[in-house]
Amino acid sequence: MVVYSCAMSLSILNGLTDLLWPPRCVACSARLAPTPGGPTELSFCDSCAPHVIYSQSPKCPKCDIPYSGEGDDHLCGQCISDPPPFTWSRAAMLYGGPAVDALTRFKYGLNPALARSLALMMLPVLEDTELDAIVPVPLHPKRLKERGFNQSALLARVLASRLRLPYHPTVLKRIKDTVAQAGLSRTARLANLKGAFLVPRPRAIRDKRLLLVDDVVTTTATIREASATLCRAGAATVSVCAVARAVKTN
Ligand SMILES: [Zn+2]
Ligand SMILES: [Zn+2]
Repeated sequence: MVVYSCAMSLSILNGLTDLLWPPRCVACSARLAPTPGGPTELSFCDSCAPHVIYSQSPKCPKCDIPYSGEGDDHLCGQCISDPPPFTWSRAAMLYGGPAVDALTRFKYGLNPALARSLALMMLPVLEDTELDAIVPVPLHPKRLKERGFNQSALLARVLASRLRLPYHPTVLKRIKDTVAQAGLSRTARLANLKGAFLVPRPRAIRDKRLLLVDDVVTTTATIREASATLCRAGAATVSVCAVARAVKTN
């Protein structure tokens, strides 16, 4: 009876979500046909779907950077010369085409349906992983005030709910309002982020295998610094998942 009631409530909630935010293509906003009796989990329309580039081998198993041509996965030069503190980083797709449109729409408007669709796209790359808790990459309070929401936290919350894992939105704090990373050299980017994060309550993550969630991984500078901070605070491991991986040099 309880199970039945919960299922009913969930169905009503999903129906309401579809009513308030009708299912649309995450990239171009074209209306999608609703799925009878359940939430619409389709994400790209028929026009956009063929242009999405999914992350595939060969690539670096640590930082997810793809290689052209054929071959097996192997570590990239950057991960060999300067091993990252995270165990692995994975993304649902590569940053380009419809992924850019989807993430731009997501970043500039609070849209729970869009957050849900993008988070669900991340689930396949998390299959067969062993994790204890989920932590979003935080925004500095000043940026949070400007934007009104943290896009990584919206994704992380959906993932935590789907994976039935504890969600820790406040365990990692951003204490340094860093300048924009674009245009900076690798050394300058790393220096810019040095000391940017803090774990005020390390007990919450001690010996835990954490999943750090970001919207886009462009260089690995941010996730390197955030992962290092979490590891120093006592996390057993930190792995990273993002909606998209931008292909640029580390
Ligand atoms: Zn579309
Ligand atoms: Zn790598």
